[in-house]
Amino acid sequence: MAFPARFLDELVARSDIVDVISDYVQLKKKGGTLFGLCPFHSEKTGSFSVSPEKQAYYCFGCGKGGGVINFIMDEENLSFPDAVRFLAKRANLEVPEETGGSREAGRLRQRVLALNKDAARFYYQTLQSPDGQAVQAYLDRRRITPRTAARFGMGASVDRWDALIAAMTEKGYTKAELIAAGLAVQGKGGRLYDKFRNRLMLPVIDVRGDVIGFGSRVLDGSEPKYMNTSETIAYSKRRALYAINLVRKSKRPNIILCEGNLDVVTLHQAGFDNAVASMGTALTVEQTRLLSRYTKEIVLCYDNDNAGKLATERALELLNHSEFTVRVLQLPNRMEDGKPMKQDADDFIKNHGAAAFEHLLSGSENGVAYRMAEIAGQYDLSADDQRVAYSRAVSALIATLESSAEREVYAARAAEACGISKDAILSEARRAFSARQKEERKQQARRDLNPAMELQPKERGSRYENLRSALAEEGIIRLLMLDSALFTGAPPIAPERFSSPLLAKVYQTLLSALQEGRQPHLSLLAEELTGEEMNHITAVLQRPESRTERDKALRDYITTVNIEADRRCQSSAADLLAAAIEKNKEKKQYGGKLNG
Ligand SMILES: [Zn+2]
Repeated sequence: MAFPARFLDELVARSDIVDVISDYVQLKKKGGTLFGLCPFHSEKTGSFSVSPEKQAYYCFGCGKGGGVINFIMDEENLSFPDAVRFLAKRANLEVPEETGGSREAGRLRQRVLALNKDAARFYYQTLQSPDGQAVQAYLDRRRITPRTAARFGMGASVDRWDALIAAMTEKGYTKAELIAAGLAVQGKGGRLYDKFRNRLMLPVIDVRGDVIGFGSRVLDGSEPKYMNTSETIAYSKRRALYAINLVRKSKRPNIILCEGNLDVVTLHQAGFDNAVASMGTALTVEQTRLLSRYTKEIVLCYDNDNAGKLATERALELLNHSEFTVRVLQLPNRMEDGKPMKQDADDFIKNHGAAAFEHLLSGSENGVAYRMAEIAGQYDLSADDQRVAYSRAVSALIATLESSAEREVYAARAAEACGISKDAILSEARRAFSARQKEERKQQARRDLNPAMELQPKERGSRYENLRSALAEEGIIRLLMLDSALFTGAPPIAPERFSSPLLAKVYQTLLSALQEGRQPHLSLLAEELTGEEMNHITAVLQRPESRTERDKALRDYITTVNIEADRRCQSSAADLLAAAIEKNKEKKQYGGKLNG
C-alpha cells in the first residue's frame, strides 16, 4: 500500500462519511440510514443511501457504492492518492510521503498537466508570432477579437511534424510523457510526430484551472475538421466541458449548452459568459453532475439541423428525470423569404446580434413544449387520420410527465392543436402509461425468473463460477465487516478455499487488516478494486444479514464454502486422473503403431 496503514485508518476515522457526503448531497434520515438524490445518475426520488454504521454509500438506482474515499474519487474525479490528499486537507491531516505504484501514477498525471500547460503556452506564443499568421487570419474571418482569443488561451500549431516535440523536449519532457499527454503520436517506424499540426488550438481547462487537454480546428480542408485530445490520464471526454472554467464565475442564472467550441467562444464574446460545450460527445451523466454544481437550469442550444435535433432529443431524455429545469433555445431555421437555412449559435449572433439572441434565450421553450412542437411538425393536422396519429404520439409523451398538473396543461395545449378534446387525450395518455407499466412489470418478471443473473457481478472478469459457494463467501465478508469480533483469533477459513478470486482478495485484505489490529472498512479496498468491483462489494454489504445468531450464520457459510471447495478438489483430481489414463492409452496406441 502506498500510504501507511495507520495514516489511512486515521484519515477514514476523521472523515465521517455522512459529514463528507453532506457537502455534496442533501441527506434525510430514515431509520438508521440517510437518503438523498444520487449524484451519479439523474433522478427525482432519492435512492442514494448512506449508512453511518457501515460507513458506506450505496445507490439502489444505479448500483454505485463504496466508502468515503471512493465517494471522493467518483465525485471529484480523482485518483486514489489524490482523493486521499483531498480528504487529508479537509481533515487537517498531514500526508506522509508515499511509495510505490500509485505515487508513480500521481507523478505522471502531474507531469502531463505541466506539459499541457507548457504546450498551451507554446501554441499561444506561436499564434503571436509570424508562424501564427494563418490562424490569426482565420480568427479575423470569424471576427474573434484578440481579447477573446487571449481569454480562451487560443493558440496555433504549425504545419510541421515536430515543432511541439522539439520545443517540449528542450524543456525536459520525455517522449513517454508527450505520448501520455496525447500531444505526440508514434508512427509505424517508431518515429514520433506532433498530433496537432496546422490547427487553431483551444486548451480545455477544468474547474481547478488545469489544462487537461486540447480541442482544435483544422485550417485547410483536411480531415478531421475538429480534433480533440484522446483519452489520457488527465483527460476524459465524458467529464470534460469546454469553458467550464469561465462559466463557473458567470452571474447568469442558467448555463447554455452548445454544440461546438467556437459557438461557445462567440457567445462569450457577445456577453453570454454562461455557455459551455461538451467535447464531441452527446451530453453525459458525468457532465450533468458537474453542471449541477453551478446551476439548476440548462438551456440546450444545438444546431437547427437534423444532427442537432437528435442531440437535443438525447439530452432531453437524459435530463428528463433530473432536478434541472431544462429549456430548449431554437435557432430559426428559415430565412426571411422562407427558404430553409442551417444555423448555429455562431451564425445567429453574427447575423442578428447579441440582443436578438438574448430575446431568444428569454423566450426559449421548456423541454416538453419543444418536444410537442417537434411531434406536431411530423403530422398534417388538417387530415383526420393524421390528427388521430398525432394525438396518439403526443399522449405517449404526456404519459411520461410525472406531475398531474403538467399532464393537464399539456393535454389542453395538444387538444387545442388538433381539435380533439382534452379528456380524450388524457385518457389516451393513461392508456399509454399503463401499457408502459405492463411492459416494465413483464421485464421485471423476466428478471425474477432468473435471479442468478442479478446476483452476479456486472464485470465479466469477476463473474462467479460457483454461485452457491460465492453467495456463502459474500456472507462471510458481510459478517466480517458487520461483526469483526467473530473473526478474532485464528481465521475460521482460509481465503484459498474461496471460489471467487475477487471475494478471496477482499476477504484476504480485510482479514489481514483485522489481524494487524485495524478496523476492517470499505475504504481499505478503494485502491485495490476497480469501480465496478467496489460497487458489487457494496451491494453485497446491503443484502440482509441475520442480526442474531451471527456465529451460527458464519458456521453455515463456512460449511457451504468447504463442501464446494472439496467438491472442486475431487472433481479436479478426477479430471487429472482421467487425463492421465487417456494419455496413457494414446501412448500405447502410438507405441503399438511404431512397433507394427
Ligand atoms: Zn445512482
